Amino acid sequence: MTDASPARLTVRRAVPQAGAMLSPRPEPLIDSSPMERAFAEAASAAARGEVPVGAVIVDPATGAILAAASNRTEELADPTAHAEVLAIRAACATVGQPRLPGLDLYVTLEPCALCAAAISFARLRRVYFGAYDPKGGAVEHGPRFFSQPTCHHAPETYGGLQERRAGALLRDFFKERR
Ligand SMILES: [Zn+2]
Repeated sequence: MTDASPARLTVRRAVPQAGAMLSPRPEPLIDSSPMERAFAEAASAAARGEVPVGAVIVDPATGAILAAASNRTEELADPTAHAEVLAIRAACATVGQPRLPGLDLYVTLEPCALCAAAISFARLRRVYFGAYDPKGGAVEHGPRFFSQPTCHHAPETYGGLQERRAGALLRDFFKERR
């Protein structure tokens, strides 16, 4: 098990239920291995001089990892080549479908507005993310994309998985580049 202490996780349901604040819920079943893979992807991005963010798409029914990706905005000279977007593209190519209902995404950083939109369009079931990103995040910060009335599919989101580790990865990266 990792340092993803359930007590530090924030949970937002796609459809809030009456009394949800009062009744204790069972902790979500979180498999730490996809997050480990996402961290490995993030580390590989850092080694290439890319902002270290990694993303993995998993079929929760089987535990199979359908896609794993990291940021490649510098390499591809593409401002949209974020880890989440690349993982979604790869998973869609794998299944041969434009949407990924029932699948889950693990990412080391709170998704930005671009990625939140892509996640919504992909109809992903759940998003597990690591560090919160007050400056660029769009799940718990900024536009809070999934909470907007114009958002037609909101996944369940679970933030703060291995938050300290995920934050340290980014801080170390930017410290070294200053
Ligand atoms: Zn993004």
